[in-house]
Amino acid sequence: MVRWHTLAVWFRHRFGIRVQKIPLDAGASCPNRDGSLSRRGCIFCDVHGSGSGLGEQGLDLAAQWQRWHDKYCTTDPNRRFMAYLQSFSNTYVTADRLQALLHEIAALPGCCGLAVGTRPDCLDARKLDILASARQNTGLEEIWLELGLQSAHDATLARINRGHNATCAAQAVQESAARGILVCGHLMAGLPGENENAFLESVDWAAALPLSGLKLHNVFIPRGTELAALYQSGAYAPLARDEYVDMLCAALPRIPSHIVMHRLQSDPPPGSLLAPHWALLKRPLMTDLLRAMHARNIWQGCRADVPDARPSWYDAPATTGQHMLQG
Ligand code: SF4
Repeated sequence: MVRWHTLAVWFRHRFGIRVQKIPLDAGASCPNRDGSLSRRGCIFCDVHGSGSGLGEQGLDLAAQWQRWHDKYCTTDPNRRFMAYLQSFSNTYVTADRLQALLHEIAALPGCCGLAVGTRPDCLDARKLDILASARQNTGLEEIWLELGLQSAHDATLARINRGHNATCAAQAVQESAARGILVCGHLMAGLPGENENAFLESVDWAAALPLSGLKLHNVFIPRGTELAALYQSGAYAPLARDEYVDMLCAALPRIPSHIVMHRLQSDPPPGSLLAPHWALLKRPLMTDLLRAMHARNIWQGCRADVPDARPSWYDAPATTGQHMLQG
């Protein structure tokens, strides 16, 4: 059973079958890394820019795709695949390069769609037009734009060295959605200097934007980052597991039920995680969240758009719920 609108439920509805996202590294950079804005990066960003690192090992897109595709097909061949440009800021390229990249991805065998991860300040009208027409021009069936929003609070964004403010993030969402692009915003819980109230204010801010999806995740600390130095000096402590479950229980009822929750937890690479170690145990966290929501009789949207009625996805079959960790 599910109590939030999972990506698995969305994919089942859209494609009639399980869809697995495959992370790809297209060799993008980031203005917050290359010196255009800063060389520090966001304080939680590791050297791989939140990606798999396969591109840095010299594997081109087709080789990366094949590696993941073969791996997933050995466990369950009965699914479709969506490319996820995850590493760094994937619209921080010329419009022509973006166009070529979309065609390259559409040609990957069995690829039914694409999610493009980027920063809100790496978009312009031409790039948005390219993304908006990509389904028609490339044959990809679904395109998501994944935007790192992180917080509604400019003081926090400055503290974590994001290099953009909340107005810029809101504008990027609005301009993308106005073109019919499916936008998934990312928010982080447990950012330095933020408490639960500040996180919930960010959730309310994001829920009021024209988003089709949201990704919420707990801050984790990768080794070698500025955040790791703060943690080691005692100036920052990550959320405790129970605290995060409580924050999700407070956040999900405020989020309209049509918004697809792409993920509710971070996905740290085990080798680089400094803390918290509970962040590696993803499935038990979701099980505890479901239990907590059941005990409190709450679900996504119950304090937003659907106080009385159950949303259509409520209590989706267990087979779908089992897949809620994908993506
Ligand atoms: S925007 Fe992304 S890639 Fe760039 S520094 Fe921040 S986390 Fe790293």
